[in-house]
Amino acid sequence: MLKSKLAAGLTPYVPGEQPKGEKVIKLNTNENPYPPSPKAIAALREFDAGRLRLYPDPTADVLRAAIAGAEGVKTENVFVGNGSDEVLSLAFAAFFDADSDPVLFPDITYSFYKVFCSLYNINYAEVPLRPDFTVDIADYMERKTSGIVIANPNAPTAIALDNGDICRLVETHTNRVIIADEAYADFSSQPSLAAMTAKYNNLLVVKTFSKSRSFAGGRLGYAIGNEELITTLRSVKDCFNSYTVNSLTAAVGRAAIEDREYFEECTARIIATREWTADRLSQLGFTVTKSDANFIFAKPPTLGGKEFQARLRARGILVRRFDHPRISDYLRITIGSEEDMREFVKVCAEILG
Ligand code: PMP
Repeated sequence: MLKSKLAAGLTPYVPGEQPKGEKVIKLNTNENPYPPSPKAIAALREFDAGRLRLYPDPTADVLRAAIAGAEGVKTENVFVGNGSDEVLSLAFAAFFDADSDPVLFPDITYSFYKVFCSLYNINYAEVPLRPDFTVDIADYMERKTSGIVIANPNAPTAIALDNGDICRLVETHTNRVIIADEAYADFSSQPSLAAMTAKYNNLLVVKTFSKSRSFAGGRLGYAIGNEELITTLRSVKDCFNSYTVNSLTAAVGRAAIEDREYFEECTARIIATREWTADRLSQLGFTVTKSDANFIFAKPPTLGGKEFQARLRARGILVRRFDHPRISDYLRITIGSEEDMREFVKVCAEILG
């Protein structure tokens, strides 16, 4: 067999469909409907392509300083990577041991966590969400664990956990790293926990440029944490690839994160469209969770999730669905532009007759 035992045993993560050429309303991968900041686009145009001859700065200091400025932390508290998936992957390797107490995360959450565990042979346990899809932190307090990963807001449920609850986990498991995956936190009514990393040396906050910074194609994610955690992440990164963030992405990403005004305008617009869409779906009889993210998690009143998704697909609208038994009738619907969502709601009403 031309495969390692490791490769033979893997079940990879499957990302949402990226249609090639076909014109669709794309509400399936939680991308931002608006372009990157005009300042980011200007930075791209002004980038000196001659610089591509050289390797990038392996520690991306200028970019990290810009992120630190935006997050209210110090440069040494920031780690950057090729998308937050890579940052998470390195964090699992850096902070969780193989063959130890299980790493805990909810049974319904970002499915990549399980994939990282299988890649690194990390023992894990999936902790059931309550029937209403909320996290009960009591389930995480007493257990022996190697670490905890909470997506906040959670995906695909869109529901936020109170920051105070995450802090209680951090304070309970003081010799374990707690990862708060804040991929969607910029759309939440709660502030990021990034600043709390100054207080807690075992809290790692992971964020991404893919959603709120309209930069999924640029592949840029980061972690905020105590300097010791960041140094550990860097040492793992340097055993894998010294240059995970290329110089073009670093330059454009820096301009994107420095444009706070544009970021606030786009996130506010997406939040307003989300509330409008959630109301309309509720009126159509959908069961809709309380979303703090740039997507909505909703169950159509009839037809079932699979059939509803197929009917939307036939009308040129892509949404995501997961085959997990508890949520297979739910659709995860990314918030697109106002126009996209008007069309989406209209098509849903037509499907329901
Ligand atoms: N965390 C969560 C909860 C996500 O949904 C995603 C997007 N699939 C990511 C992390 C990774 O995003 P990216 O690699 O684009 O930064």
